[in-house]
Amino acid sequence: MKTLRWILIIPISFLFIACNGGTSDQGTGAEVAATKQTFNWKMVTTWPANFPVFQEGAERFADMVNAMSDGRLNIQVYAGGELVPALQSFDAVSQGTIEMGHGASYYWSGKVPAAQFFAAVPFGMTAKGVETWIYSGGGLELWRELYEPFNLVPIPMGNTGVQTGGWFKKKINSVDDLRGLRMRIPGLGGNVLKKVGGNPVLMSGSEIYTALERGVLDATEWVGPYHDLRLGLNRAASFYYYPGWHEPGTELELIINSNAWAQLPEDLKAIVNNAAQATSMWMYTTMEYHNNEALLELQSSQNIEILEFPSEVLAELKRVSEEVLEEEAATDPEFKRIHEHYKEFRENYSNWTRISEDSYQKALLR
Ligand code: CA
Repeated sequence: MKTLRWILIIPISFLFIACNGGTSDQGTGAEVAATKQTFNWKMVTTWPANFPVFQEGAERFADMVNAMSDGRLNIQVYAGGELVPALQSFDAVSQGTIEMGHGASYYWSGKVPAAQFFAAVPFGMTAKGVETWIYSGGGLELWRELYEPFNLVPIPMGNTGVQTGGWFKKKINSVDDLRGLRMRIPGLGGNVLKKVGGNPVLMSGSEIYTALERGVLDATEWVGPYHDLRLGLNRAASFYYYPGWHEPGTELELIINSNAWAQLPEDLKAIVNNAAQATSMWMYTTMEYHNNEALLELQSSQNIEILEFPSEVLAELKRVSEEVLEEEAATDPEFKRIHEHYKEFRENYSNWTRISEDSYQKALLR
């Protein structure tokens, strides 16, 4: 029987090879050369060297692409400041001096205000909603259109999950306590703080601890328990507030120079897209895991208090957040267009989350 099977298989295999041999499936000479070409790219990030999860994730992504492409796409990853200053990575990739970047789109809010929808919106959607909007609800198409004039292709890569509200030197009992408060808080959240009388300060991660410890800042937000603990913020302020109303599910981005992207053969593009999706999942779940571990550690500390913002404060911040979004939309047509899309998606999607996630969470608490 075995012999008979081989007799049958061999001719079929030959037939398959023979049929395939002369067809266009094997590609023209130029296509074959292109698929064998090796690309050596640089990636710059907005993160400090050795920054857990984010910089780590960018490096894992590069390793994955290298392995999946059998070394045909080599990406050398540089932390913020190693090749270009962290917040200039957008320009470097846009101009094409660097092929790729990793960061968060709200860092470019000065240049592209509407980019903030693809990072964080105060009282906006959490990771689940944001990613459903981006991957499946038309968000990614809007994002691509928005970045096209900058010669950039955006690809979602990572989400921080719900962040924490931040570290405060004094208790926040009412909205009045936010007046005059010097707080490091970027993006739209900063605009909201300003509108309730606070002083938002822009500051990179490496400066935060010293500024808070020396009283240059009265408060700061950073990421969540894991990153905040690593920065030692629990030694610089006593009151740790939640939730992160200003960053309920911050999406991270890969940006690629359009000309560099156009030169990649289709299989390498597919590798980049799929490695980015795999890295997204890794970053999000790693964040969730470590945040919980770090929170347990913070909860056992005698020197700090972990508190929920009073509901009166959250209600006012929510009201003002809506005003800030409407005001921004009134001054920028792109912001308005994406804001409307985001709002409509969210409203429509809440129909399902109400009877799925929300109802289930309520059932658990019964
Ligand atoms: Ca933050």
